[in-house]
Amino acid sequence: MPSQPDTCLFCRLVAEGDHVHAGDGFVAIRDINPIAETHLLVLPERHVDTFRDIDAFPDEEAGRMLRFVADTAAEAGLSDYKVLVNVGAGGGQTVFHLHWHVLGGAFHRGKLSRALELETA
Ligand code: 5GP
Ligand code: ZN
Repeated sequence: MPSQPDTCLFCRLVAEGDHVHAGDGFVAIRDINPIAETHLLVLPERHVDTFRDIDAFPDEEAGRMLRFVADTAAEAGLSDYKVLVNVGAGGGQTVFHLHWHVLGGAFHRGKLSRALELETA
């Protein structure tokens, strides 16, 4: 369910400022329930519900967002890692403020498969 900026959990976390990496209109925070040794979330500072709304970003800003994801992983010391975006409730999205999961190091047993599990047909 889409959220509004004034009630959005991630808008609040952006404002609170406990970031591992910030700049250029984006922030990286630690996931509260990590599924891997390193589990960061990259979010745009401005509220966009979901990756499906990518048209909300001009191409230049979309490019900067990708660069920020890569820089966040590099700053966390990761060279090999996964980048994951859950899109819509059916795609596993639970917080409706666009975010990129950056996952590196050892995965906590069973948590990746649960995170990727979708409703079965
Ligand atoms: P999604 O399922 O929408 O792709 O990912 C949402 C992520 O936000 C989950 O991995 C969840 O653990 C994380 N999360 C939920 N609430 C909080 C919170 O209050 N703080 C932080 N840092 N992460 C949260
Ligand atoms: Zn938001």
